[in-house]
Order: sequence, then C-alpha cells, then structure tokens
Amino acid sequence: MELSDFKYSVDYSKLSPRPKLDQEYDIISPQGRRLYFNAVVGEEITALREFLKQNTFIGYLLAPKMAGKGTYTNMLKEVIGEGYFENISVGDLVRNAEKEYLETGEGDSPLYVYTTENYRGLMGLDDIFASLTNRSTAGLSVPTDFVLMLIKREIDKIGHKSIFIDGFPRSVDQVSYSLYMRDLVNYRDDPDCFILINLPVSVINARIKERRTCPVCRNSRNLELSLTSIIGYDEEKDEIYLGCDNPSCKEKGIRMERKEGDEKGIALIKDRIITDLQVMEMARKMYGIEKIELYNSVEASVADKYTYEFDRTAAYYHEYKDGKVVSTKKDFEVEDHGVKYVSMMPPWVVVQFIRELSRMFGLTK
Ligand SMILES: [Zn+2]
Repeated sequence: MELSDFKYSVDYSKLSPRPKLDQEYDIISPQGRRLYFNAVVGEEITALREFLKQNTFIGYLLAPKMAGKGTYTNMLKEVIGEGYFENISVGDLVRNAEKEYLETGEGDSPLYVYTTENYRGLMGLDDIFASLTNRSTAGLSVPTDFVLMLIKREIDKIGHKSIFIDGFPRSVDQVSYSLYMRDLVNYRDDPDCFILINLPVSVINARIKERRTCPVCRNSRNLELSLTSIIGYDEEKDEIYLGCDNPSCKEKGIRMERKEGDEKGIALIKDRIITDLQVMEMARKMYGIEKIELYNSVEASVADKYTYEFDRTAAYYHEYKDGKVVSTKKDFEVEDHGVKYVSMMPPWVVVQFIRELSRMFGLTK
C-alpha cells in the first residue's frame, strides 16, 4: 500500500449547506467561537448537554496521525462544558504505565497488583512488563490484551462517564476488539461509535513540511499556516524565517528552525499514516456499530455552498521584495488526486461533530 492509494472524498449528504448568518464570527477567539457555535448549532448543544447529564457513550477517534484529533475533542469540551466526557489517550496510558512500573516496580505496587488481578492474555507478566519497557528500543509494541487492561484500569479510575478513546484501535487486528470494549468495561447499554476524521493527506504534508520549532522553548508554529508576529528574511540562506515571539526568546531574537527531517513532510510518518487509514477503512466495514464521518476539507468548487470565508484555514505565502517580506493571505488549498480542496478551521469541523452526535443520539428533529 502506498499513500497515493488512499483518495480523499467527501460524502456531501453528511454536510449541511452553510447556515444563513447575519454577521461574521471571529472563530479564533474563544468568545467569538462561543457566539458562532450558538448561532449555528445552539439547539443541538443544549440538547446534547441535557442528554449527557443522563447518558454516557464511548467514541473511538480514528484519524491519520496529525489530523488534529485532540484539537477537535478539546474544542467540543470547550463548547459542551467540563465534566461531560473524558478523553483517554492510549499513548499516554502506555507511557504512564511504563513510568509507573519503572518507579514502583513489582510486589505490591498498584499497577502490578492490578495487572495480576485483571490481565488476561497469552503473554506472561514478565514478558508483558518487558514489552512495556523495551518497546521503543526494540521496536516492539505492547500486546493488545494489556492495552485493553490499561484502558479498563483508567475507566475504573474515572468512573462511569462518557469517553473518547484516542489511540485504540491502532492496528487493523485491534478493530474487532473495540466492538467488545463496551462489555469489558461494563458500558453494556451505552451507545458506542467510531468517529472517523477525514482529511487530504497533503494537509498533513504541509503541517510537517512547513513546521518551525523554537530551539530554546520548543514552541512550534508553521511558516505557511500559523505564523508568529516576527517574519524575517535570512540573506545568507535566502529564506524566510519566523522569529519566536515568546517574550524571553523574542528579546534575544531567537529564530524558529525547521527540525531535521521535517523537510521530508509526510514521508517521515508514511507507514503510520497508511496503517491509520487502513484501520479507518476496516472500521467503516464493521457491522453493528455507529460511524460518524467528519471532514476537514471540501472541494474548492463547492466551498461557498458549505462554508464562509472565516470558516476556512488561512495560508500565507511569503516573498522577499525591495528589502522586506511581503506576506499574502489566501485560503489554504491542497490537491488530492487532481482535485482542489480548501481546508477548514477546527470550529467548522466541530459543528459537524455536534450535528452528528445529536443525530446519533436521536436529538435532532
Ligand atoms: Zn522560543
């Protein structure tokens, strides 16, 4: 499989034409976003809050790496409110378990005791913990049975709440496990669903390729998509750079740099992305579980039907002319299999998310 085997496409029947709005919204600021969400999906938000006070659900977030899963669920949390659902990052669970194991060891440490009482699987405990601590060096991954146990342990900790699971299923053979997760964690009667986040892979390419990182504070921005207040020109290298605008870095004139390898763009994480896309394809085929499809981009030719200009991601193109940098702002356009797409700001995607959740829970008239 190659990346080019995966074509981005939008099911427009899942999108609503842009609503009639009598003003533009500043969706970059939290206040502006609140007004925007209230104007566009206010009723759905109220209904979702009421529903989630009485009910819980499990959502599996599936997307290619760097699609912005965290951005979307955090924004949903911002809109619906704190305390309605929890985000479980399986990557964090595994990293934290490794840390805990290295710090507390075996014997009567809580992780070890929980594992002896709850883990079921083919591998012995010694091998399980070896796989946990050697996984980065030996290129091993932690067995699925143990990942399931870690998720169960986390859910035991947070109590019966709605949850988004990020990072599981992570491989094609884990997809069918997720169908039985509900039973494993005693969420038997809860609705569960796959939430599939779609975007053209060329969006990810630009996110990596034009990424710039501050060598001092590690702050990360993008020369095309997310600028700082300082844009300069390096004569020697004949290139445009971003200055870090963290106050202490700004004072010293620290320039952000492209990390080694980032110039390769998506090629850097190609195998991971292919696996993620395969997992999504497999999830779509699963019978008996709801699916929510979210789209990050629409075809440029129909952008005006579904979006406003302020919904769209801005891209900046820079030129050094007559001793200064001139930056031009345009819609962020990418191509996928010869079709031009425009990419949207997270709030536009979160509006779809809210609509789809209300539809799934039967809250929409
Ligand atoms: Zn900095």
